[in-house]
Amino acid sequence: MPSDHTTPPRCHGEFKHFKTTSLNDGIFLAGFDYFGKSVNVLNGESMSEWQEIVQFAEQSAAIKGVVLVSMKEGNFCAGADLEQMHDAQQRRSFQEIEQLVITAHRLLDAMGRSPKPFVAAVEGACLGGGLELVLACHMRIASTHPRTCFGLPEVKLGILPGFGGTQRLPRLIGLPAALDMITTGKTIFSRQAMRMGLVEGMVTSIASNVRTLENIQKETLVQAAIAQAHGLCSTPVRQRPLRAIQRLLSVSGVRALVCRYARHQVAKRVRHFYPAPLRAIDAVEGGMRLSIPEGSLTVERPLLLDLMASPISAHLVGLFLAGEEVKRNVATIPEAATRVGVLGAGLMGSQIAGQLAEKGYAVVLRDVASNILAVATGRIHKTQTAQVRKRIILPSDLRYRMMRIAPTIHIRNVSAASLVIEAVSEKLDVKRAVLAEFESQARADAVFATNTSSYTLAEIAVKAVHPERCVGLHFFNPVAKMQLVEVVRAPFTSDMALAQACSLAKRLGKFPLVVRDGPGFLVNRILSRYLAEAVIMVGEGIPIRRIDTIAKDFGMAVDSGHAMGPLELLDLIGLPVAVHVLTSLAVMGSRIESRDALLRNFLPEKKSPLTFWKSGKENAQALDAIASYRRAYPLKADSISDDILHQRLFLPMVDEAVRCLHDRIVEHPWQVDFALTYGIGFPAFRGGLLTWARQTMTLGHVAQVLESLATKYGKRFEPCPGLLNSGW
Ligand code: NAD
Repeated sequence: MPSDHTTPPRCHGEFKHFKTTSLNDGIFLAGFDYFGKSVNVLNGESMSEWQEIVQFAEQSAAIKGVVLVSMKEGNFCAGADLEQMHDAQQRRSFQEIEQLVITAHRLLDAMGRSPKPFVAAVEGACLGGGLELVLACHMRIASTHPRTCFGLPEVKLGILPGFGGTQRLPRLIGLPAALDMITTGKTIFSRQAMRMGLVEGMVTSIASNVRTLENIQKETLVQAAIAQAHGLCSTPVRQRPLRAIQRLLSVSGVRALVCRYARHQVAKRVRHFYPAPLRAIDAVEGGMRLSIPEGSLTVERPLLLDLMASPISAHLVGLFLAGEEVKRNVATIPEAATRVGVLGAGLMGSQIAGQLAEKGYAVVLRDVASNILAVATGRIHKTQTAQVRKRIILPSDLRYRMMRIAPTIHIRNVSAASLVIEAVSEKLDVKRAVLAEFESQARADAVFATNTSSYTLAEIAVKAVHPERCVGLHFFNPVAKMQLVEVVRAPFTSDMALAQACSLAKRLGKFPLVVRDGPGFLVNRILSRYLAEAVIMVGEGIPIRRIDTIAKDFGMAVDSGHAMGPLELLDLIGLPVAVHVLTSLAVMGSRIESRDALLRNFLPEKKSPLTFWKSGKENAQALDAIASYRRAYPLKADSISDDILHQRLFLPMVDEAVRCLHDRIVEHPWQVDFALTYGIGFPAFRGGLLTWARQTMTLGHVAQVLESLATKYGKRFEPCPGLLNSGW
């Protein structure tokens, strides 16, 4: 029986996770505001409240339509509550989740069938279940706010969109575009979303700072959504038809070909390691023959539950939550730097400056010569232009970003910055001189953050007048892609310097993992064992391709979309840099054995260094260099199995990780797992280096294998005593 009331049963403000109000003209405004979290999530509680709102709107004669907005700044809805899912995976009990999925299907279906229009006004990230909720609305309006984005990242968690996303998205934007979004989990920004038909409207809107319903309803975005809801009230709600080409690619005969192509693309990208994208394609293809509710319930749901119960998904969700923990745990500072200096405009400095300008910092970029600065700004401009091409930003945004970078050759121009990132050439005397120069010019409270990859903070700050202001900010290359940043703390680093560095990394959207100062910090220290062993194998005459294939078959770097072995990684890092890092890690003693004579052949004087690979093939010059080394240092080469090569590459990393825990470079094994996954591309589906080792070998077995390797190949494999303890 329709009621005449314009307030839901709990009456105004009584929902825990929604703020609601009825506007005079019959539009019901629902502001999602998940209690106690900085982002909106969908779980049993918030869904049951939304269900009440949907039912109320349906039954109240006075309500003509519903506008859904978010009360959170920069977030529309982050999707399903992953802590609930992680908990279910730990307990191996999925009934609650299954119930949630069934409720979601019914609820979203009821919205879609409702004669009253639901319009989503989206500002901020709209991801996973959040996007699926929006897909069930009759219309979507997006704001051009830079944080507004859309995506179905479920495959990155080893599952598939389970609230009908695999069914609704292809019907809205066509099969190929939907498969692309669903199988890659990629993020789409407003302009792209508008072009592909994911949203029906886009407005430039200024978000209110004080986020009350009263303020929000005055925003252009919400006004536009209200107007659209009115429009839909007076005309019957109809889904916008697909464009002719999208229709053609979705018809049954062509559909099989499109899906086959999508499967091929997935296999190319993630090989056989990840089942989720393939199951997602099955869900899309299977569901297109059925109605949305049927497809969701009978095809999508069982596939989702199977994937959720897999160890791969448990590992991926665990790593995701570890990232949240990393961000949550770091100390940040209210008066965080907004003006930042970057010293050194080379490969790293220019990328860091570009990232800073992108996130709104005023950047002073300093190098020793104008021509170097010109090359650097040209490089930054080129990278940023790619975002204009992809319609992520407007040409005017690009201009503002570039204007935020002030190139200079004078250190005095950096004196106003409250934080300075040092990215000059990797030479200790140059770094010390730059620190002294900085101290002579800097503000009294300015922080000096070094991006060094091979020196310790203590070595660089040895003569500092204010060592307490020195910290490490170790970015990885390429800066835009690599999400991990090691924030290095020495005993003399102040809490303020650490908090400034962490705040900056966090604002850049990175994971700031705080590590203790020490040679190679955490990631390079462990990585060096892997790279050094690969070089030793080359010297033994083991083919380049074979070494890299073993690592690629294990999944190294597959998450980046390009599986890569240690030798290709060395090519990417650049042999001179890598040699420098390995040399400075000589302090690790017998654990790092260098092959200087071999590497010398790869670094001819006054010529470019050789690479192991050239245009996808083993480099002929590299093969000559190896042959000449082997003539000078002949070795009786025994045949060696892939298993042994695998152990030689990966077990020393486990040994080094346990040593790092012993030296308290980080406190917890999960931090090692997280750092190696995000820092060097250890395959996420294995859960991280230590999780993999624990789950595939018994405690004593790792030490036992290392001991037998030490007997055959030398002291570098001798295991640390910590491997026999259960602390890792
Ligand atoms: P680079 O050689 O490309 O750039 C160094 C720049 O520093 C050059 O442009 C040089 O002119 C400039 N420079 C030298 N002395 C200077 C001074 N006194 N003031 C200002 N600028 C000065 O080196 P890069 O690869 O960008 O590395 C920079 C730092 O980042 C190093 O400490 C390196 O170890 C670290 N790092 C490099 C990588 C990588 O993959 N290349 C990754 C992580 C960290």
